Amino acid sequence: MSAAARAGTLLSVVVPMYNEEDALPSFAARMRPVLDGLGVRYEVVAVDDGSADKTAALLRDLAADWPELRMVRLRRNSGHQAALTAGLDHAVGDYVASIDADLQDPPEKIPEMLELARAEGLDIVYGVREDRSTDTGFKRWTAGGYYWLMRRLVGRQVPANAGDFRLLSREAVEALKELPDQQRVYRLLVPWLGFPSGEVRYVREERVAGSTKYPLAKMVRLALDSVTGFSAAPLRLATWLGTVAFFTCLLLLGFSLTVYLFGATVPGWTSLFVGLLFIGGIQLICVGLLGEYVARIYTAVQRRPAYFIAEDTARDTARDTARD
Ligand code: UDP
Ligand code: MG
Repeated sequence: MSAAARAGTLLSVVVPMYNEEDALPSFAARMRPVLDGLGVRYEVVAVDDGSADKTAALLRDLAADWPELRMVRLRRNSGHQAALTAGLDHAVGDYVASIDADLQDPPEKIPEMLELARAEGLDIVYGVREDRSTDTGFKRWTAGGYYWLMRRLVGRQVPANAGDFRLLSREAVEALKELPDQQRVYRLLVPWLGFPSGEVRYVREERVAGSTKYPLAKMVRLALDSVTGFSAAPLRLATWLGTVAFFTCLLLLGFSLTVYLFGATVPGWTSLFVGLLFIGGIQLICVGLLGEYVARIYTAVQRRPAYFIAEDTARDTARDTARD
């Protein structure tokens, strides 16, 4: 690619941040030289997802002598995917990369992603983790199950082990913005779009500082949103379980009647009780699943925005300039 062709491109880098004051200095120190050396105009859209620590103040300080850095601060913690949505909505680049703030995804791969996208005319370049040895056994095991299930529900175009480190073309970003989905899971929505895509492999590093912002509860939430967002199959689970239970019941009825007619009583307090609890448990699970889908309809109908902007350094600068 010629230098002139590159110079016309604008790259946006979206970084969701929630309580990342410990990781932020290292992040900026490693990210800036990579982007400065790219030979392409760029902007960094740092989305402060309602952090309770000094993340926003640090970002403001950083932006003072890093003109390409823009902070969009959300009014309250809205979650990783909502923060990504805010970043995608505000980014203006021809290509938009998204990356975590904790340096688990290497910024040095962004130039490679851009190069690949431009050279092969791709709209999506996934960052694929080829080695998860820094993750805990539990995380690897749950992630393995998650991607296995999602490839079955959404389709084989979902790359295994691709998180939210990726590059999107402007066209792909616009397509995402048109989707009405409220609870977004980008790692599934992006492959679902069906744009031409490629991969860049990388080794997931250890979190540079701070602790994970994805406790088990948020992981379960993401998994439930993933399933309910792409498949109605669990809704049919009740039908299948009910059918199986009914036929089992017929068999048992036949058995009990035969035994009764031959004059014996069927002992079975234990089996009765276990059966009762079993059916009760299955029923509650089915009602819970139904509830998940109803909740999804409920939030879709409410149509509340995924986030509110409390501060946008780019907008605020423009306003200050206008006032002067
Ligand atoms: N994050 C966010 N809002 C949240 C939780 C996380 O913006 O409610 C950001 C976080 O600051 C980080 C990225 O999302 O930049 C991924 O989170 P984390 O590294 O904690 O997840 P993990 O890598 O442990 O799965
Ligand atoms: Mg992380």
